[in-house]
Amino acid sequence: MTSPLSALFEARRDDLIALTQDLIRIPTLNPPGRDYRAICEYLDRRLSARGFSTELIRATGTPGDSDRYPRWNIIARHSGPHGGDCVHFNSHTDVVETGRGWSFDPFAGTVSNGRIYGRGACDMKGGLAASVIAAEAFTETHPEYSGHIEISGTADEESGGYGGVAYLAERGYFSPDRVQHVIIPEPLNKDRICLGHRGGWWAQIETKGEIAHGSMPFLGDCAVRHMGAVLSAFEETLFPAMAARRTEMPVVPEGARQSTMNINSVHGGEPEPEPGFSGLPAHCVPDSCRIVIDRRFLAEEPLDQVRAEVTALLEGLKETRADFDYTLTELNAVLPSMTDRSAPVVQTVARAIEDIMGKKPDYVASPGTYDQKHIDRIGRLKNCIAYGPGILELAHKPDEYVGIDDMLDSAKVMGRTLETLLTGAA
Ligand SMILES: [Zn+2]
Repeated sequence: MTSPLSALFEARRDDLIALTQDLIRIPTLNPPGRDYRAICEYLDRRLSARGFSTELIRATGTPGDSDRYPRWNIIARHSGPHGGDCVHFNSHTDVVETGRGWSFDPFAGTVSNGRIYGRGACDMKGGLAASVIAAEAFTETHPEYSGHIEISGTADEESGGYGGVAYLAERGYFSPDRVQHVIIPEPLNKDRICLGHRGGWWAQIETKGEIAHGSMPFLGDCAVRHMGAVLSAFEETLFPAMAARRTEMPVVPEGARQSTMNINSVHGGEPEPEPGFSGLPAHCVPDSCRIVIDRRFLAEEPLDQVRAEVTALLEGLKETRADFDYTLTELNAVLPSMTDRSAPVVQTVARAIEDIMGKKPDYVASPGTYDQKHIDRIGRLKNCIAYGPGILELAHKPDEYVGIDDMLDSAKVMGRTLETLLTGAA
């Protein structure tokens, strides 16, 4: 890196470590949505002191929002003396449960072997810290810059983002007249640009039967056998059809480059006994069986077709199988999102990666969804990518960590990106 920014970042290594540790030490667990206010206030103190104007916004009435667990978000904005584009760094502040198997305290932010350990270290407090350091270093080195920088810390990404980015996008915070470039520092590795994600469709299917004595099943109608027919039809036609589809999206890992479907759960008949119950089951023919499906689809597949494919299969069973009856309830649907490789933010970050890392970036897409869906569909803002430090596979795992050098390199790429977009430096 030829600009004076590079040396500045090295000088900020300790600050970057301390900031990441501070963020990890605020246990913003979701569920239930703990300490969202505390992490917003922390960022408010830090960024206000460095010339950002800040807004704390509670997503009142969104799923999970309550007086005990309010859904707080922060948007901090810094403006140069001249007009220009706004570059927005969006990070979610929530983290998932710790689970078992840790060798470090998940909320201590322990530094060991060049890494910082903790829940949220890579997903995504390390990315948030890198963007804060990048923005601060840039505004101090280029006080005469043209445009604006925004940093947001938003709630609930891990549970769909409805109390975070979706709420803000509905209120115009991610509209193209306010923001022109969005970088989401999710842990996609410091040399990869994530252009978007596949779609998701979640539904519950229930098959119906009739209860009767288990010794005379012919007097009833077994809903679990009907569900067995549904699962066989999935095996025989749907799974092979999905496996044959390939997307042009650069989805990683490779297995996610086709359509996929997970059977999330199966429930049918009598509920399972409580642990410790020593009685025997009663003898009944189940009159209901339910599954939840998690269908991930490709940019090339219209959502209507995804729905119609499953419905056609169920309707087919209705015609061929005696007494088959079902209901299908859609639980949620998210459309795929894919930013064009020629988009300005993609081109600029790609050049910055080449400058800093001396290699061309890899372009990837995510198998699961993240907040880009709301920025794209609600905000109508297409110039958006995910780029940040950390290894995606460590997210949600025990002993999650982020590499300090990786954070520093990502921060340099972000700083270089700001130089290109907001000072016109080539
Ligand atoms: Zn994340």
